[in-house]
Amino acid sequence: MGIATVNPATGEVIKTFEPLTDSDIEIRLQKAQKAFEQYRKTSFEQRSRWMNEAANILAARKEEFGKLMTLEMGKTLKSAIAEVEKCAWVCRFYAENAAQFLADIHTQTDASDSFVRYQPLGIVLAVMPWNFPFWQVFRFAAPGLMAGNGGLLKHASNVPQCALAIEEIFLQAGFPPGVFQTLLIGADRVAPLMADDRIKAATLTGSEPAGASLAAAAGKQIKKVVLELGGSDPFIVMPSADLDAAVSTAVTARMLNNGQSCIAAKRFIVAESIANEFEKRLIEKYQALKVGDPMLPDTDIGPLATPTILKDLEHQVQVSIEQGAKVLIGGQTLDQPGNFYPPTILADIPLDSAIAREEFFGPVAMLFRAADIEMAIQIANNIPFGLGASAWTNDPSEQEQFIDELEAGAVFINGLVKSDPRLPFGGIKRSGFGRELGIQGIHEFVNIKTVWVK
Ligand code: NAP
Repeated sequence: MGIATVNPATGEVIKTFEPLTDSDIEIRLQKAQKAFEQYRKTSFEQRSRWMNEAANILAARKEEFGKLMTLEMGKTLKSAIAEVEKCAWVCRFYAENAAQFLADIHTQTDASDSFVRYQPLGIVLAVMPWNFPFWQVFRFAAPGLMAGNGGLLKHASNVPQCALAIEEIFLQAGFPPGVFQTLLIGADRVAPLMADDRIKAATLTGSEPAGASLAAAAGKQIKKVVLELGGSDPFIVMPSADLDAAVSTAVTARMLNNGQSCIAAKRFIVAESIANEFEKRLIEKYQALKVGDPMLPDTDIGPLATPTILKDLEHQVQVSIEQGAKVLIGGQTLDQPGNFYPPTILADIPLDSAIAREEFFGPVAMLFRAADIEMAIQIANNIPFGLGASAWTNDPSEQEQFIDELEAGAVFINGLVKSDPRLPFGGIKRSGFGRELGIQGIHEFVNIKTVWVK
């Protein structure tokens, strides 16, 4: 479809965009380079003022930006507005803390003074996905710009209006023109951009193939990358858990963003002794969810973002059934326009099947049963991914075992896996490498310069 806004709830093409030409891209690169050379010299105080203003704009126009997200990728309006509020939070967080996170660190050596100074790397290319069209960008841009870097955004081709709105926010907030720009380009332009000397590093959030392709292009040029890729997070429930809380959270954990979140719980691994009860309650809760127009306040689940995602999900469910999975609810595409798929629960997927280790990007939960904690951890770890993991137990020794043995970038005990500006976020294994957010996130795109003075 190229670069376009297509309403996923109706299939209507709202607006199409011509991708930038080579000379358009060159003009933007020159502008970015010129802007960076001045911008890197600005003070933290100045950058903080601009970043706080970006937060003010987000807060003041949250409904407008929320509607844009809902229109372009189908998340419910209430969750889109909450996403804009979270973007304002990350802007304020780094506006307040960047100076402290990047302050010189002095160490006693044989020098009269020796220290580490954190300096910006330059222009960073951000390749971003459509599923959190604002949040994914702001969680890179807030620390990145506060560190003195420039940003070039290549957003997903189905959210061009969100991409342009974000460029406008930074400009209106006062950041000098060129410090943050959106490039409306296809994925085929990413590798050539990585070969441009003016681009110093890149960050990509998206699928494994996209991450591998960007990392290969960056590797050829010896450039740093951060990759935030897919996941199939486990959600483990042990007998001592608060079952009410676990079941309620299991609904949000799987259905958030119409099931299209990298850190959604995708595999529910439940202790045998409570599995029947958990299953019964989960079915009841999923059946009560309302699928429909994402703009309406009482809708729980909107459409999937594109027809391709819907087709891929239908195929995965079909393969699961062929492999022996039992459909407890859902499993059939809804007969209506738009990319709607109902809440679905699959049980009895053979543990050793390839499909059990795939990421399902939509409202489909897989249920597994575990005889004991060892088996639960073994099932949880038996995937190529390692993004987040949620484990529910009130037994302190089990909590410690989960924290120690789950292969993931984050382990949440008795809670929903979520991102938070104060905590680092990222994965291991095929979920990627590097971290966003927290103090670690702002350290990804800086030169850690060692200084020795006598
Ligand atoms: P995708 O196809 O990989 O798209 C993500 C971005 O990468 C888009 O801007 C896309 O551009 C671009 N892209 C695609 N192929 C590329 C290539 N070969 N080289 C360079 N750039 C390329 O991802 P998606 O399927 O839309 O998004 C869902 C995936 O993202 C899921 O696996 C999900 O788990 C993951 N995700 C991870 C996180 C995290 O933080 N770990 C967060 C959200 C999503 P075009 O749109 O122009 O193709």
